[in-house]
Amino acid sequence: MSDVPVSQFEATLNRLGRYAAVSQPGTVASIHQLRAEFGVSITTAREATRALEILGMISVRRQVGVVVNPRADWDLLHPAVIGWRHEGADRVHQEHELADLALAIDTAAAGRITDHGTVDLRIHAAAMAEAEHDGLDTLAAREDRDFHLALARSSGNALFAHLASVIASQAEATGSPYCHGTAAAHHELVEAAESSDPGAATAAVALLHRTR
Ligand SMILES: [Zn+2]
Repeated sequence: MSDVPVSQFEATLNRLGRYAAVSQPGTVASIHQLRAEFGVSITTAREATRALEILGMISVRRQVGVVVNPRADWDLLHPAVIGWRHEGADRVHQEHELADLALAIDTAAAGRITDHGTVDLRIHAAAMAEAEHDGLDTLAAREDRDFHLALARSSGNALFAHLASVIASQAEATGSPYCHGTAAAHHELVEAAESSDPGAATAAVALLHRTR
């Protein structure tokens, strides 16, 4: 835990974010209810509400109040939104969404990989194998994340690379794996890519993300 003092605004924003993250879309509250619930001034409640509105999680409607928006309207890749969802009942759903996204990015990237795009992949798969052999799980997990970041970058699609970095950050923050494959399974993906066999490469990706 950090020792940096949290301002009243930040504390209110975090409480409001957690509240929205576990609320059904369409849930309504008034600013005055929130102010009383969180024990803060009306100004702080309004500022926190405005910040959450910018993240798309809520809308403030005249004569209605603060309304929770549908999940698809939220800034779902913002670290704060990811964190609030992770702390609440939405956690398992979010984990499935991120795993789906990881599979989609890896599949698309593996389908367009060329044999000269595998240098970094080979390095990370080898380092992952060494870490696995030495029982260094944290190091193996880091090499795994770096492998997938390199794979996403190799696609030449900056959006893939960005999304992969969001997934990797969340995996690191929660201690969950980026994928479920062993180092040997990652090596098979490298071999398929170097054989210029996109079909085998995407099949190898599917194996990496298959949950046991
Ligand atoms: Zn992996």
